[in-house]
Amino acid sequence: MSESDARRRQLIKALLALGMGLALPDAWPAMAGTGGKALGVAGHKVSQAAAKYRATPNGSEFCADCANFISPNACRKVQGTISPSGWCTLWQKKA
Ligand code: SF4
Repeated sequence: MSESDARRRQLIKALLALGMGLALPDAWPAMAGTGGKALGVAGHKVSQAAAKYRATPNGSEFCADCANFISPNACRKVQGTISPSGWCTLWQKKA
């Protein structure tokens, strides 16, 4: 193998490693050593505290009428058990 072939192989390996890193953004907090906890993030969801979740409605706004609510008691954006009559700062009117 020539020296230029070896350099070409090293360049290809570096580009592949870079591409894999860019394709795994969910792993970045874990790679940074926070495990996502410092940001209140687990996967794509935030903690209830970070979203200021509460088990009671905010006026006419409540989880069962939110675009992020997953019946019977979960949420696309907030971790843990979610009450249909709860509310958080990420509330979005269901379409
Ligand atoms: S208000 Fe919406 S975003 Fe917030 S916890 Fe309830 S369902 Fe999830």
